[in-house]
Amino acid sequence: MYILLMGPPGAGKGTQAANLVQKYGIPHISTGDMFRAAVKEGTELGKKAKACMDAGQLVPDEITIGIVKERLAKPDCAKGFILDGFPRTVEQADALDGILKALSIRLTRAVDISVPSDVLVERAVGRRICKKCGATYHIRFNPSKTEGVCDACGGETYQRADDSEATMKNRLSVYEAQTKPLISYYQEAGLYSKIDGSQEMSKVFADITACLEK
Ligand SMILES: [Zn+2]
Repeated sequence: MYILLMGPPGAGKGTQAANLVQKYGIPHISTGDMFRAAVKEGTELGKKAKACMDAGQLVPDEITIGIVKERLAKPDCAKGFILDGFPRTVEQADALDGILKALSIRLTRAVDISVPSDVLVERAVGRRICKKCGATYHIRFNPSKTEGVCDACGGETYQRADDSEATMKNRLSVYEAQTKPLISYYQEAGLYSKIDGSQEMSKVFADITACLEK
């Protein structure tokens, strides 16, 4: 299973990726983890990426693509992977195509966990987190017994600044603009599957595995 996982922030990609790791025994490769690993291993590309990040610059495409190439060539990816956060642009998608061809790998599916923006905003805005133990609640879907107080430890719950309506709406519109061309790209390649991510998590996972195994 060579899976590309797409989906807006808050769509539950992390949970579904973890489910896929467990079911298929393949690694979850997120861009952030990949960068951190390359920097830690001190590879040439890792060093270059670190220099950019230390200087507060964006890591150029050629370095990012090089790091993806090195990562996907590792033995643990031979039977499959879940690629998450890459590609972000059509140029990167073309580069990924080249990398996969060189490795004689055919992408199984580009799986897009799709959730309407208003649902994602509601999920984020209602989220409350315990200051003490990190437990998460939702004022509507999973409220603590006493408002503002953690059930588990009695700590105070709060709303992260990132979970404000304005921040969330902005992140989602950036994501949408960025992703639209990629959706067309994988639709044209006959690899795109849109999954209804607003369903219960177990149903979302069932839909994902159904589209991968068909
Ligand atoms: Zn707590």
